[in-house]
Amino acid sequence: MSEQRSPRFRSVLDEYVAYKPGKVARSADGRSYKLSSNESPYGPLPSVRDAIADAGGLVNRYPDNGCTALIEAIAARYGVPEEHVAVGCGLVGVTQMLLESVGEPGAEVVYAWRSFEAYPTLADLAGVTSVRVPLTEETHDLAAMADVINDRTRMIFVCNPNNPTGTIVRRPELEAFFDRVPEDCLIVLDEAYHEYVRDAEVPDGLTLYADRPNLAILRTFSKAYGLAGLRVGFMVAQPRIAEQIRKTYLPFSVSLVAQAAAVASLKAEGELLERVEATVKERERVRDVLLRQGWAVPPTEANFVWLRLGEGTMGFSAACDAAGVSVRPFPGEGARVSIGSPEENDAFLAIAEAYSGRR
Ligand SMILES: *Cc1c(COP(=O)(O)O)cnc(C)c1O
Repeated sequence: MSEQRSPRFRSVLDEYVAYKPGKVARSADGRSYKLSSNESPYGPLPSVRDAIADAGGLVNRYPDNGCTALIEAIAARYGVPEEHVAVGCGLVGVTQMLLESVGEPGAEVVYAWRSFEAYPTLADLAGVTSVRVPLTEETHDLAAMADVINDRTRMIFVCNPNNPTGTIVRRPELEAFFDRVPEDCLIVLDEAYHEYVRDAEVPDGLTLYADRPNLAILRTFSKAYGLAGLRVGFMVAQPRIAEQIRKTYLPFSVSLVAQAAAVASLKAEGELLERVEATVKERERVRDVLLRQGWAVPPTEANFVWLRLGEGTMGFSAACDAAGVSVRPFPGEGARVSIGSPEENDAFLAIAEAYSGRR
């Protein structure tokens, strides 16, 4: 008898731990606040809920694989041609499409670190080699990123504002950087938090790509539009890029319900952006209170704050859990805390206050 054999898998999978569902933190008195995933604290608007319910009546049918109505609505809203738009199953889905469309042995992708957690995993799965450039003062070091570009570099991510630090790069630095990137290397500007930006010097990526043949702008319905549970994201770029990226779309992966909800959300944009404004106000309040408590908090243009706690990160995260507040810890580095409702933010600030003496 031959020795026992088992199916062979890609070696990269051995580096990943299987997904473990996060335990929802709950305090002794039963409170539970989720400030770990940068979600909108608001439930869907009535008009969006109605669109979701109506779409629910049609789910015996496949979704429109071309996402025609959604692409039309996105193009109309942002004043771009439909051929410039590609949608995916969340922005994570679009990111996967991008990486798969450049991924082959030897290809490199450059991104800042720490930045969005999905970049390394999706790069590995696409067979692309990651080149990580450390943040400087919690911000992208664009000069250093341009310096590592070589013949093998196929793609560069710039996350603006950056997740998890909330920091931004402004127009002059960004344009100077774009000018240094060769035209055969795709620049991906991840603007998942664009709607929360108030710094007038941060450009709207959609105003930058028209004369750049290698710039793709990413947006999502998960954050400001409050549809994280439905999975819709999109890219805007020159038609050649959009056409290539669309080829990597996992068929039917943006559901019929998700497409309908995204279209309805664009129609209700005014109301949604009022909610964003409330979150921005809360963000400023939360940061001011933290600064007064003695924390160092980088200026943030997103819907979260970043506390660089170093070795104290897991202790702080445990203190938050005990009080029923889930935050997002990165062991040895820091914790990202989403801006929630005023009540949720107050609960977090009370923990931060009590903890500030113990740092
Ligand atoms: C949340 C987030 C995304 C993607 O979100 P989806 O829910 O997949 O649309 C993409 N980029 C960054 C930086 C994010 O924080």
